[in-house]
Amino acid sequence: MTVEVVKNYINGKWVESKATETQDVVNPATGEILAKTPMSTADETIAAIEAAKAAFERWRRTPVFTRVRHLNRIRDAFEENFDELSEVLTMEQGKCLDESRGEYRRTIENIECATAIPSLQMGYNTEDIAAGIDEMVIKQPLGVFFCVAPFNFPGMVPTWFWPFAIGTGNTYIVKPSPQVPLSQVKQFEIIHNLGLQRGILSMVHGGPEAVNALIESPDTVGMSFVGSTHVGRLLYKKTAEYGKRSQVQGGAKNFITVMPDTNLDRTVAALLTSFYGCTGQRCLAGGVILAVGDIHEPLTEALVEGSKKLKVGYGLEEGVQMGPLASKRGMETVIGYIDAGVKEGAELLLDGRGCKVPEHPNGFFVGPTVFDKVTPSMSIAREEIFGPVIPIIHVKDLDEAIEIIHANPYGNASSVFTSSGKTAREYQYRVKAGNIGINIGVVAPIATFPFSGMKDSFMGDLHGQGQDAVDFFTENKVVITRWF
Ligand code: NAD
Repeated sequence: MTVEVVKNYINGKWVESKATETQDVVNPATGEILAKTPMSTADETIAAIEAAKAAFERWRRTPVFTRVRHLNRIRDAFEENFDELSEVLTMEQGKCLDESRGEYRRTIENIECATAIPSLQMGYNTEDIAAGIDEMVIKQPLGVFFCVAPFNFPGMVPTWFWPFAIGTGNTYIVKPSPQVPLSQVKQFEIIHNLGLQRGILSMVHGGPEAVNALIESPDTVGMSFVGSTHVGRLLYKKTAEYGKRSQVQGGAKNFITVMPDTNLDRTVAALLTSFYGCTGQRCLAGGVILAVGDIHEPLTEALVEGSKKLKVGYGLEEGVQMGPLASKRGMETVIGYIDAGVKEGAELLLDGRGCKVPEHPNGFFVGPTVFDKVTPSMSIAREEIFGPVIPIIHVKDLDEAIEIIHANPYGNASSVFTSSGKTAREYQYRVKAGNIGINIGVVAPIATFPFSGMKDSFMGDLHGQGQDAVDFFTENKVVITRWF
């Protein structure tokens, strides 16, 4: 059986890459090779940039309501293809079908939010800044933008950006993760069939060579990156060197504080979803539990009991609650962290290593894992595991919890579970994290709010989604007017 090399989408056409290097796209539940991703060359990437540049001049002159009408059509087409899009996502990424559906709901919500651009892109003015002189701000598009996307949300992440970019009159290039290109291929097939004008939206597959060409080109103006902090920092520096705007949404280690006054049952249910949803491969996944005072013992027991009940398997199959890790490498990394936790002296209450799904012996499965007696200096307490592992640290009070949170370099999300309004208010006031949850396990902002993040979890100032995205993709021009 021949496995197809996925194509780039440049200037409104599907183009075979000339790349000699490819990466296998593997179904992580079965081990089956689904396709290959070409590591596109700089020349191929430049062809996409040139098409996007040529399209920009006519696209920015297209009336704003016409631009968003295209977004509406794409939105409707995604809705019509909802089931197929969700299935492709599960096949290439491994998350359960319900999780894929959830991802596509948020994908569509981002497009819906961007259809408000006729309002969101409005400038402002002041009359008579001096006698007979008026001043205004207009928000103009800049040119060709691009995103560099991660493997964990291959359907949704590019839509934090491109609907806002093209809605405001820019043109756009998506660079998907080479591990999971098929969701974007499917989306671009749908968009292609709608007949969007050539060059407005393009896609180039690949790795560093394509990304470097996008950054170095004199014809691109800005980058949205979502991925690890390590790679994000490299690219943030590089975009600065080339004088581009950029927004970098990086890695995470999200601390969840559980107070003794919380509702235990509801808290446990939220925590299980937070740590095990998408097999722990979310930038907003729970990273560590800080169990305050005497909630520690009942909470730990309930978490172990709840974890044991989770059904692990192929996400397309009925009743499965947690899929595999998205890659063999991901699985090995998570197992490495569990080994390290044991070695560093944490108490392993539930061990997900060696998890077997008999019908799928080649899948990259790791079962739910719970560690107690974790200390802040252990690697499982400090680093992003990106897998279904719950490390529990027992702390005496809220101050100790916040001290531990602030000692960690990341600041993507943090939650507190409590029935005290005072504690909740103090938490949201003091904790340095971009997304704060009060009795919420996964603090995922809807499309009208910025997808926030602080400290090492974010570089830049404007985030993805909502008004932040509109501001990122536009430039404020001041006009001062006097008529003689
Ligand atoms: P990654 O950093 O390995 O890759 C992200 C993208 O960068 C991919 O498209 C990849 O091809 C590209 N890339 C990798 N190395 C590169 C290089 N040297 N030069 C140029 N491009 C390069 O990240 P990943 O493993 O795909 O994604 C997981 C990470 O993403 C986790 O850390 C997770 O927390 C983070 N993430 C963050 C958010 C957020 O909003 N903060 C959202 C989703 C995922």
